[in-house]
Amino acid sequence: MTKHRPQFDLLIRAARLFCSATNWDGPGEIAVQDGRIVAVDLRIPGDFHESLDAPEAVVVPGLIDLHAHPANSGSVFGVAPDEHMLPHGVTTVLSQGDAGADHCAEYLDHTINRSQTRIRLAINLSRIGETTMDGCFEQLADADVERCINAIARHRDAIWGIAVNVSHIACGKTDPQRVLERGLRAAEACGAPILYGLRRPEDWSLRLQLERLRPGDVVTYCYRRQPHCIVDRGRVLPEVRAARERGILFDLGHGAASFDFAVAETAIGEGFPPDTISTDLQIRHLEMSPRHDLPRTMAKLKAAGMPDVDVFTAVSHTPATIMRMFPETGCLRPGSSADLAILRWSNEPEELRDAAGNIRIGGAWYSIATVRNGQIVKPDSKPKLGKVES
Ligand SMILES: [Zn+2]
Repeated sequence: MTKHRPQFDLLIRAARLFCSATNWDGPGEIAVQDGRIVAVDLRIPGDFHESLDAPEAVVVPGLIDLHAHPANSGSVFGVAPDEHMLPHGVTTVLSQGDAGADHCAEYLDHTINRSQTRIRLAINLSRIGETTMDGCFEQLADADVERCINAIARHRDAIWGIAVNVSHIACGKTDPQRVLERGLRAAEACGAPILYGLRRPEDWSLRLQLERLRPGDVVTYCYRRQPHCIVDRGRVLPEVRAARERGILFDLGHGAASFDFAVAETAIGEGFPPDTISTDLQIRHLEMSPRHDLPRTMAKLKAAGMPDVDVFTAVSHTPATIMRMFPETGCLRPGSSADLAILRWSNEPEELRDAAGNIRIGGAWYSIATVRNGQIVKPDSKPKLGKVES
């Protein structure tokens, strides 16, 4: 009788695996077969087609960026996800409104179905989405509830919820309260959550904005600079804590204007970390050096006082749950899709900058490799085009 040894596609050995869903935090190995995790253990015997040794790295579930602008075409903010996100550890991205009802089918064809990165859309309540440099709600008529509802019904699998960004830039002279009212009507009709782009509270108080939102809605831009933000004189505002207690979620959405170190340090010190850490990566970031990406954004939150295990959870388990994708992704569990981020922590002191240019000195994470559905992608890999299962 011949002894049967298991055959696997890929074995990853790492100094540290971290998964908040299984409470694994230590050295270990992961075996992958047919795009799925099939074993996680200290030692996995068997034969492997390929192996990846990461003796100085941490392997975490593939990073999930809950607010960014992945788009191969059609969005003025769009960046190619397989080129600019996937190689940096990100296996799943939620688009904040890159397409509205008018361009939803095109967004599926050109971006979601053509990317190795797993992408879901928070459909823009504005039917024109982000197709022009004008704010998407400058014409209130574009906040078309019926069209939004119909698009969600047609593309339910690809659409997570509705993007309602009521910032001054998005609304122009349009009354933001009417925009949110329409967003809520569409959301109620579809049973969908809202990705809410917070407004500077000069003409609409933060308390009144938050009171309109429902459990499961996600507020992005949560660490915007004072005085337009969730902290005041060193304390997290009571209406913000009340919103979290009601089940409203708070997302970072770093972007070009919405991450402030002092606010983050105060909020984290007060026990109010973000639920999710996201980049709001868009086309204007591509010229930046160093690169604006999710591992670097994570390093900024660590510098602001968030323990690294909480940082990892805020880019894996929590966003996977919010996106209703757990345990398909967001964990290192046998049966889950083999989506992994292999990150190296560099202790080399670096200048970490917030959106206003304030600096903290700290280490940073760098992507060594990403595994998406069992396929290895290196930071210098060229993207592949073509449809993949998602
Ligand atoms: Zn955005």
